[in-house]
Amino acid sequence: MQTAKQPIVQLEGVAKSYGGAVALAQLDLTVYAGEFFTLLGPSGSGKTTTLRLIAGFERPDTGRIMLDGEDVANRPPFERAVNTVFQDYALFPHLTLIENVAYGLRAKKMPKAQAHEEAEKALAAVQLADYGGRKPTQLSGGQRQRVALARAMVNKPRVLLLDEPLGALDLKLRHRMQIELKRLQHETGITFIYVTHDQDEALSMSDRIAVFSKGRIEQIGTAFDLYERPASVFVADFVGSSNLLGGDTLLRPEKIQLLPAGSTAPEGFEAGEGILREATYLGAVTRYQVALADGTLLHVMESNTRPVGERLRLAAGDTVLAAWPRDAARKIGN
Ligand code: ADP
Ligand code: MG
Repeated sequence: MQTAKQPIVQLEGVAKSYGGAVALAQLDLTVYAGEFFTLLGPSGSGKTTTLRLIAGFERPDTGRIMLDGEDVANRPPFERAVNTVFQDYALFPHLTLIENVAYGLRAKKMPKAQAHEEAEKALAAVQLADYGGRKPTQLSGGQRQRVALARAMVNKPRVLLLDEPLGALDLKLRHRMQIELKRLQHETGITFIYVTHDQDEALSMSDRIAVFSKGRIEQIGTAFDLYERPASVFVADFVGSSNLLGGDTLLRPEKIQLLPAGSTAPEGFEAGEGILREATYLGAVTRYQVALADGTLLHVMESNTRPVGERLRLAAGDTVLAAWPRDAARKIGN
């Protein structure tokens, strides 16, 4: 992120309906130059609509969209300094990778030799330096996605819009591409506006995240803000897993320790006795469910850091004391 924060994309009071159905209700959003900014939310919450408005594929019913401080209401997509990468990265099958990537530059009348040189640089940036002569069908899904990225970045957009670009890839490849995308964004300094419904992906990649629900933004903040200081029950629940005590007090599962029944909770801790319903060993962590006396079902996550011999051995049916630091339970919105 740059030190002097320069707004590059601004949405002010933007609303959009299709027929009678509200896709976006009054959206305000500022993205700064050089940011990796993520739109996170469940399916149908308005993320793609927001990207399409920024790109110029849709027009807002109300409100203003500014790029670099200029109202772009009357600018068609090709006159905006943004490029979009979609999940279904349609490459031209009969063209080589170089030709695919150079296509946009050629359309803008750049001489062929120069366009191909630029395309080669862009392919090298996505680790496909020696692949320029191949056709898309000779590539894996991950490689095709990288070509789509190169094709967008070769135009040197100020802003790159990415709509669930890794959604079609398997988990391992997705993790590799997440790191790759971060690196590219860092190296090029291009502002990324990235759409995903995957909270892990959002937390691991973004400078800031806007959490969408039903056409509204619930909260904008860093991963830390969203996880530690969620502004609403929706955010608390959508980002990470959560215990909601009394409906509005958030207690994250990893802040809770389990002690043998009858122990005294440490100083400054809140505690409750309960019955272990479930224990699931996951390697690095073990996940538990504890039914407290008042009926609350508590999700607990303990990391398996201590030597095996020193860990509590717990099985379903055991009575345990669940304890957590008093300040780990926070009223939502505070
Ligand atoms: P997301 O990308 O978060 O899944 P979208 O922005 O695609 O959500 O959609 C938001 C809402 O707008 C949804 O209810 C969707 O059905 C509706 N919508 C989006 N595009 C259209 C369209 N072209 N015509 C009618 N309804 C649409
Ligand atoms: Mg979408």
